[in-house]
Amino acid sequence: MAHLSNRINQISESQTIAMARKSRELKAQGVDIISLSLGEPDFPTPQIIKDAAKKAIDDNFSYYTHVSGYVELRQAICEKFKRDNNLTYTPDEIVVSTGAKQSIANAVLCLVNPGDEVIIPAPFWVSYLEILKLAEGTPKIINTTIDSDFKITAAQLQAVITPKTRLIMISTPCNPTGSVYTKEELKALADVVAKHDELYILSDEIYEHINFVGGHQSFAQFDFIKDRVVTINGVSKGFAMTGWRGGIMAAPKWLAQACDKMQGQFTSATCSITQKAMHKAMELDYKTHIEPMRNEFLKRRDLVLKLMKDIPGFKTNLPQGAFYVYPEVSYYFGKKYNSYTIHNATDLSMYLLDEAHVALVPGAAFGDDIYIRFSYATSEDKLTEALTRMKNALAKLN
Ligand code: PMP
Ligand code: GLU
Repeated sequence: MAHLSNRINQISESQTIAMARKSRELKAQGVDIISLSLGEPDFPTPQIIKDAAKKAIDDNFSYYTHVSGYVELRQAICEKFKRDNNLTYTPDEIVVSTGAKQSIANAVLCLVNPGDEVIIPAPFWVSYLEILKLAEGTPKIINTTIDSDFKITAAQLQAVITPKTRLIMISTPCNPTGSVYTKEELKALADVVAKHDELYILSDEIYEHINFVGGHQSFAQFDFIKDRVVTINGVSKGFAMTGWRGGIMAAPKWLAQACDKMQGQFTSATCSITQKAMHKAMELDYKTHIEPMRNEFLKRRDLVLKLMKDIPGFKTNLPQGAFYVYPEVSYYFGKKYNSYTIHNATDLSMYLLDEAHVALVPGAAFGDDIYIRFSYATSEDKLTEALTRMKNALAKLN
């Protein structure tokens, strides 16, 4: 009989990954599924990065590296932070991992004791809550709505801080809402953090390069709290490198050392070839290699928003980054078609999977089951077809 620990039993499967798995299974059965579920660019990795990786193989760069990544890579990451974000880090403050996901897990497991409170603005990215469960931390969720563009204010943050609060986990640009915090908004939150000595911020900036409103703003830019900011980044999204598994954390040296120790027991360094590919990514010219993908995402966002206008009952914000649209869909709750009755966004997602053959992720995964997440990291043709199918399927509900 299976005997699993309480630890794993209390963790949910990643809903983004579960939905992707379901759509793969249906596709394998011959069902023509359009998957808008997984947050994954459909572009190939830029050729120049692939060439660097091929060279690394030919050069026999095939041995274990330093657990935190070979030092020249960490130096290149420091140069990236200086060039793009005006942040000064040294290589001993950088830990390269197998993905932003691992970087987040490292940081949370190294910072949070059982019972410590961790503030998570909702909607939040799926894995924050589950990683926090592993650390036995207590989540303190701040709910936001479309009316505030899903952003929290300094007053909301201040209101939930207690002497037990240890960490805030936040993403900008945000998965799933696409919201992007301005410098002023971040400064207001930083001012609150500054008043609480034991409070840290995990600032997940993995969507840095997919930003439609100009320059990316990092939390660590405010010198008065920089030593309490854990900056998370990586190559998955901006460089179309999801499968390579390369994550980045920049943090005070004592925390970087702790994460190196943690990672040294769990996975060691990420793949040496991936590290060489990341090294090339850090040096890429943004305008030539990254901006074209970002521009394509912007076109797709506008297309999805335009097509959504024709679908009754979908309320959205204007996503200013990442590649998600997160409409509120409660208009459909209580409606029926054949054997389906829609009670929540999970029911609606299942209905759309069955009736429209479109895979989406219900808001339950991100904190509130009245929304549905669309990933628009796919071609305009597929997006158009998906939204047409959805419109037809939704019209049957009454
Ligand atoms: N943070 C956010 C907000 C994400 O959306 C994702 C995954 N898409 C990650 C972290 C993890 O990314 P990675 O592939 O680098 O593990
Ligand atoms: N983070 C992506 C998403 O939100 C990929 C899936 C995952 O890593 O959970 O869809």
